[in-house]
Amino acid sequence: MPMTAYLNGQYMPLDEARVSPLDRGFLFGDGAYEVIPVYARRPFLLEQHLARLQRTLDGIALANPHSVAEWSERVQRVIVDGEFDDQSLYLQVTRGADSKRDQSFPKGVPPTVFIFSTALPLMTQQREQGIAVLSAVDNRWLRCNLKTVSLLANVLLRQQAIDAGCAETILLRDGLLSEGATSNIFVVKDGVLRAPSRDHRMLAGITYDLVLELAARHGMPCELRDIADAELRVADELWLTSSTREVLPIVSLDGQAVGTGKPGPAVRQMQAWYGAYRSQVARASACDV
Ligand code: PMP
Repeated sequence: MPMTAYLNGQYMPLDEARVSPLDRGFLFGDGAYEVIPVYARRPFLLEQHLARLQRTLDGIALANPHSVAEWSERVQRVIVDGEFDDQSLYLQVTRGADSKRDQSFPKGVPPTVFIFSTALPLMTQQREQGIAVLSAVDNRWLRCNLKTVSLLANVLLRQQAIDAGCAETILLRDGLLSEGATSNIFVVKDGVLRAPSRDHRMLAGITYDLVLELAARHGMPCELRDIADAELRVADELWLTSSTREVLPIVSLDGQAVGTGKPGPAVRQMQAWYGAYRSQVARASACDV
C-alpha cells in the first residue's frame, strides 16, 4: 500500500503508523481534526481549514504544534505521495500520550499529530439525484462549534440514517434545526436561502461559509436565523453541505418528499456557482506554482 501518512514528524505507509494506547485521543477523544478536500493534488481552502483548526485548538486549550507554513508543507507532502489526484485529507492533533490515564491535562507531553489521505468519494449520483435524510433529536454537547474527535454522539446519530437507508441525519435541538450529523443544512423557501446562524449549536462549515459567500456574491437572498422543525417540512428545497460532498440536494425527509421530490432550481444554481468557484481557485493556484 503506497499511501503515505504523517505521524509525529515522520512519513510512513499508513499501515505502519502506530500510536500509544495511552494517547488521549484514544482514551478520551481529546483532540481536534479537519477534513480537507484535495482536487488535482491541490488542497481546497486549506487556509480556512487551518484557521478553523486553530479555533478548535484554542477552544480546547491545546497549543497548535505547527505554524500554517509547517502544516502546509506536511499536507503537501502527504498529497504528493497519495495514490489519487482527488483526495480527502484528514488531519488530527491530540493532547498526546501520557504515562497514566488521568483526565486532567498532562504536563510536558507532546501532542500527537497525524495526517493521512484517501480517495475523495465520488458523489455524482447524490449530486445529480439528491439524497434521503431522516431527522433526530440533537443530543450532542453544547460546544458543537468545535471540530473535536469526541464524535460518539455524531456516530450514533449518523448510524440511525444508515440503518434507515438514508444518507444523513438532520439534527433538531429544542425543535430548531442545528445541522446534519456530519454536515450543514440549508433551507430554501420562496426564493430565500435560510440557515441557522453560527453559534455553539453547530459547526460553521467551510462549505457553509462558501455557500453563503456565493449566495451574497450572486444576489441570492439569504437569511441566517433559527429554523423551526415545521419549516423543514414545508421547504421548497433542502440542501446538505460539507467539504467532501459539496452541495447535495435533499429530496426526502423522514420519508416525505421535499418540495417536488426532485432537486430544485436553487440547488442547481448553487452547484454551478460552486463548481465555477472551485475551477477558478484551481486555475489561480496553478498560476502560483
Ligand atoms: N457539521 C458537522 C457536524 C460536520 O462533521 C461537518 C463536516 N466536517 C460539517 C458540519 C461541514 O463542515 P465542512 O463544510 O467544513 O466540511
